[in-house]
Amino acid sequence: MIWNELQGELEALQRDGLWRQRRTLELPCGPQARVDGRELISFCSNDYLGLANDPALIEAACAGANAWGVGSGASHLVSGHLAPHAVLEEKLAAFTGFPRALLFSTGYLANLAIVPALVGRRDAVFADRLNHASLIDAVQLSRADSQRYPHGDLAALERLLTASPARRKLILTDAVFSMDGDLAPLPGLLALAERFDAWLVVDDAHGFGVLGEHGRGSLAHFGLPAARRLVLMGTLGKAAGAAGAFVAGDTTVIEWLEQRARTYIFTTASSPIVACALAASLDLISGGDARRDHLWRLTAQLRDGVSGLAELAGGLANTRWRLLPSPTAIQPLIIGDNHETLRIAGALYERGLWVPAIRPPTVPASSARLRISLTAAHSAQQVGRLVDALRELA
Ligand SMILES: *Cc1c(COP(=O)(O)O)cnc(C)c1O
Repeated sequence: MIWNELQGELEALQRDGLWRQRRTLELPCGPQARVDGRELISFCSNDYLGLANDPALIEAACAGANAWGVGSGASHLVSGHLAPHAVLEEKLAAFTGFPRALLFSTGYLANLAIVPALVGRRDAVFADRLNHASLIDAVQLSRADSQRYPHGDLAALERLLTASPARRKLILTDAVFSMDGDLAPLPGLLALAERFDAWLVVDDAHGFGVLGEHGRGSLAHFGLPAARRLVLMGTLGKAAGAAGAFVAGDTTVIEWLEQRARTYIFTTASSPIVACALAASLDLISGGDARRDHLWRLTAQLRDGVSGLAELAGGLANTRWRLLPSPTAIQPLIIGDNHETLRIAGALYERGLWVPAIRPPTVPASSARLRISLTAAHSAQQVGRLVDALRELA
């Protein structure tokens, strides 16, 4: 029977420590979580600025519902493009410094839009090995030749670009790598894109709102200009605290996406409530650095607290219990083995600390890790509890 085969596959997942378990939260997104009546401090969400449950966003959402209703009723090109969507796009373009921005329902859909719209069969995509799954899927959907370079390796990328006979070339990268927290070498990537006349598509899901002046993101972090060959994707369900995504770029590129991108055209426009909440969110993101400053203080506290644990747990050569060198809110602690990572995550959970255990295929084999994500809504005390528990378990 066809389902016996599935049953076998499911059992294999359990055996290999790859089974994933959803938990139902009984409180809104925030550092304080409740699951099955049990109180936990959560280090799981991508709500880096603590805006998902912010009073200003809630108020904007309620006012938005009163003024605009709940649904958009159609796709953007038919009749679903409401004034709050238009206002938000203008704000996003001004904030990121690009001529235009186009709103999408999710980051996954935005990525699926960009790559197939810009390249096809006789073209080539040059992608970082650690790119997000949505970018990998986008390349497949485009049917372009997929060339993957070792993580952040500009020299290897240059060799691939030099050897490529492709008509059109596109360089594709996460700006902040979602499971490692490190940054792509964006200035070097832009220089190569210029030299080889390639598009540079940057997915700033984890940098937008967090990095750079006023939280403008990874491009601002590196002081890069809004070059015409640059296409920026940012998500609005992480630091921005709501849902959705945008693509910002040159007017020609954005018009092309609007005319041609299937995941833009054949889907209902997101709720106007979300657009109203996001307009308020952008005002908070750009309005001051207090949230980001607090986040960086917590990051430093965690890194100080955990430094030296690897040596403590297994001597100088030990690679376990090491934080990856991440300058962002994503702080991955490498454990290695799937079962051990699960065991440690379980022990933390028993202590009221919820940290996700990230295993293959999300990360390479033997690099299972605890992906600690910090937010501006955490307190120094909460981070202190996590540090103490990690030191006890190592
Ligand atoms: C989360 C994420 C996405 C997808 O964005 P959604 O809005 O959640 O669909 C895309 N790229 C990266 C790097 C991400 O981390």
